[in-house]
Amino acid sequence: MIKLKWLLAEALKKENVLAFYKAICADSNIKLLPLKFVSISKGIAMIVHDKKAGTMDYIGIDMNKASDVEMALLHEFTHQLLILKNNDCSHSATFRKMLNKVNDKYMYSKFTNILYA
Ligand SMILES: [Zn+2]
Repeated sequence: MIKLKWLLAEALKKENVLAFYKAICADSNIKLLPLKFVSISKGIAMIVHDKKAGTMDYIGIDMNKASDVEMALLHEFTHQLLILKNNDCSHSATFRKMLNKVNDKYMYSKFTNILYA
């Protein structure tokens, strides 16, 4: 229980979350977006995106609500990949397929250690 609490507290360190996100962007060879720690009324994370311009402003994550930061961030990261690729920000079958790929590659991987560093 003490170890679990320690892990959860460590997971919520903002600098580790940033380092994790930086590492997966570098690994996928894509440009880093600003990662903002914000309060979100609906949901726990989001990507702020201008559909018309096809541009992205930032990824926001609500650290007070995200119980699984890794999962939330990989979800937004998948949106980032598909917006880059097709300007697609939906939760389509394509999204779910890509999310599975992203999760297989990054979830509980060597990158996860960065969150708990
Ligand atoms: Zn989504």
